[in-house]
Amino acid sequence: MYADDYAADCYWTLDAPLPQAPGGAPPASADVVIVGAGYTGLTAARETALAGRSTLVLDAGPIGGGCSARNGGQVAFSIKPSHAELAARHGAALATRLYEEGLEAVAGLRALAREERLDFDWRECGCFVGAHSPRLYGALVREAETQPAGLGVPFEVLPRARQHEAIDSPLYHGGVLYPGDASVHPAKLVRALHARAAAAGVEFRAHCEVAAIERDGGEFVVRTRLGPVRARQVLVATNGYTGRCAPWHRRRIIPIGSYIIATEPLDAALVERLIPRGRNIGDTRRVVVYYRPSPDGRRILFGGRAAARETDATRCVPRLRRMLAEVFPELAAVRVSRAWMGFVGFTFDTMPHLGGRDGLYHCLGYCGQGVPSATYYGRKVGLLMAGRPGGESALAELPFPARPFYTGNPWFLPAAIVGYRLRDALGW
Ligand SMILES: Cc1cc2nc3c(=O)[nH]c(=O)nc-3n(C[C@H](O)[C@H](O)[C@H](O)COP(=O)(O)OP(=O)(O)OC[C@H]3O[C@@H](n4cnc5c(N)ncnc54)[C@H](O)[C@@H]3O)c2cc1C
Repeated sequence: MYADDYAADCYWTLDAPLPQAPGGAPPASADVVIVGAGYTGLTAARETALAGRSTLVLDAGPIGGGCSARNGGQVAFSIKPSHAELAARHGAALATRLYEEGLEAVAGLRALAREERLDFDWRECGCFVGAHSPRLYGALVREAETQPAGLGVPFEVLPRARQHEAIDSPLYHGGVLYPGDASVHPAKLVRALHARAAAAGVEFRAHCEVAAIERDGGEFVVRTRLGPVRARQVLVATNGYTGRCAPWHRRRIIPIGSYIIATEPLDAALVERLIPRGRNIGDTRRVVVYYRPSPDGRRILFGGRAAARETDATRCVPRLRRMLAEVFPELAAVRVSRAWMGFVGFTFDTMPHLGGRDGLYHCLGYCGQGVPSATYYGRKVGLLMAGRPGGESALAELPFPARPFYTGNPWFLPAAIVGYRLRDALGW
């Protein structure tokens, strides 16, 4: 099952090591302290630094070591609730603005690659979403066909007889192709965003966990184990890793493990036959599955919610490999070179959240789809903190829901996953 070079480590950092940052004591003060050095923190920090505010980014681990350097690199329109659902909750006008921002987020990442020429292997490869039951094929097609006018993304329906154009798998009952979706190399994106923030004058401290954020008059004292930092503004950019230093946010974020395996190198012609044109693939299962070829077209990177609370990615290899073989039976004997996991940050309304009051800001909760959203809303919250135009966001108008008795430990996940697996097995 395991290749000779197997490691429980992220595939992406093999050719794009995480950026180096000093690990010593932080400076005594900064105008802005950002907690978390993923896409959100890196993009926000650049904006506050460009606005002339001394900006310090602190991370408990290495730069980008949360989700940002370890995700699947799939880029899609990332607002989960339908426009109708959002309209029912918040009114049609706000729903439309939320959708417009969702579209802008993808366009913003495309502009970073094409216009600003940041190198992160941006590829407009498209995404095929397969239906794992005939019933869900109908639902998938209906969903694509009823996108709100003027706010939809291009799509093509591929019935079962044509799905070989997108994937060579017997598992699906047809699906929908979204040709405008893209893929990135997540760790290269971290490196590019870090380099831009550093060039704007942002200071970093890695391996410098924030233990507490305390108000002190009109300022904050950000306590780290390497010493305190005084700041006028603080941004919580910790997403699925939000911990005790931000209890209000922690009550609103549900950390969910997501797991990926990278196969051993395969024949490139085989990978191209199984997944033509290097496409992203997702499907209709509730227990999420996502996969794609590696940028060099030699491996398949197969991810999903393989467990509820497991932090040892190696333990998830058998399940993920079995799921891979369900999709591609001819890969039943393939060996695995890498396995890794990370915590995505879900919210109770399945929407990201951005806002702030009296100097304490937040931007998080991308519900597993932060590659476009974290880079987009991270920039927005940075502009908001700097008082610059462009910081307005429809997200700031949403309430950020919590639940009674929930303090950040998702005790209900194992039961929920069992329920979802049952629904998936029944094709609901
Ligand atoms: C396996 C996996 C696959 C995914 N696939 C996709 C995908 O294909 N497409 C997509 O759009 N999204 C995907 N995502 C989600 C996406 O990666 C995230 O939404 C995005 O990276 C969030 O960025 P962020 O900067 O907000 O958070 P993160 O990158 O998670 O950064 C948060 C940081 O906060 C730090 N931190 C936490 N607490 C403290 C503290 N007390 N002190 C200091 N630092 C602290 C953490 O160390 C961490 O580095 C995936 C995620 C995972 C885990």
